Amino acid sequence: MNRFLDQVAVITGAGRGIGKAIALRLASEGARVAVVSRTEANAQSTASEVNALRPESARAYAVDVADSEAVADLCSRIIKDFGKIHVLVNNAGITRDRLSMRMSEEDWNSVLDTNLKGAFHFIQGLERPMMKQSYGRIVNISSVSGLIGQAGQVNYSASKAGLIGLTKALARELAGRNVTVNAVAPGFITTDMTDHLPDAMKTHVLSLIPLAKFGECEDIAGAVAFIASPESKYITGQVLTVDGGMAM
Ligand code: NDP
Repeated sequence: MNRFLDQVAVITGAGRGIGKAIALRLASEGARVAVVSRTEANAQSTASEVNALRPESARAYAVDVADSEAVADLCSRIIKDFGKIHVLVNNAGITRDRLSMRMSEEDWNSVLDTNLKGAFHFIQGLERPMMKQSYGRIVNISSVSGLIGQAGQVNYSASKAGLIGLTKALARELAGRNVTVNAVAPGFITTDMTDHLPDAMKTHVLSLIPLAKFGECEDIAGAVAFIASPESKYITGQVLTVDGGMAM
């Protein structure tokens, strides 16, 4: 399939994990990719892998998505470098898990600023070219934690539920310009983010998953590729949950 031929995709948090798998998947279907990550090294490393797959299709960019001015500058640079933008995947995210009674304001702010405000910054930076060309796909990576809540994650669950509200409101704003906005809500996916969790917690989570296994980054990349493709033209404001049945 070449669903993204002649298209440009901007993917945040693409230095590792789910974002990297999305970058590779969209490139494998023809996209040129702006690989955005917090660290230069990880952004470069993914861009090299994408370029090995599809020569000269990727560029690497390092930014803190929570920094509104830096993101505004970066979006202008990306538009200059690539010309058009067709797909934006807001995937960058962090956790700072603690019970609410022990959670600091810094734990709260850093998670909300990265996961929720970071997406807003990229939307503001890139929605105009999509509107102008009357085509665009915005995909926000939420989480089952935003759907059903998770103890120890009031900050993270709030940020991911917030992304769902943002998705629906923005879908209504941009529908008239043929720009769709959807969320993908992963369940438990094996990445650096989940690696460090205690074994007892992993066993407990596994018991809640009807398909009885953790997901892989490629499971999310496949769902994003569909919802970000021209094929999904009649779907907007939706949450596609990819979680082995955990949150049904
Ligand atoms: P990882 O921790 O493996 O990777 C996170 C990525 O986000 C990294 O590339 C990191 O950059 C980037 N990032 C983090 N903070 C910033 C920032 N401030 N500015 C720019 N980039 C940043 O996470 P996953 O791949 O597991 O998760 C990806 C997304 O999926 C997240 O939004 C997460 O909340 C969501 N998700 C994950 C689940 C899971 O089970 N893994 C479940 C549900 C949702 P760098 O590499 O440069 O450090």
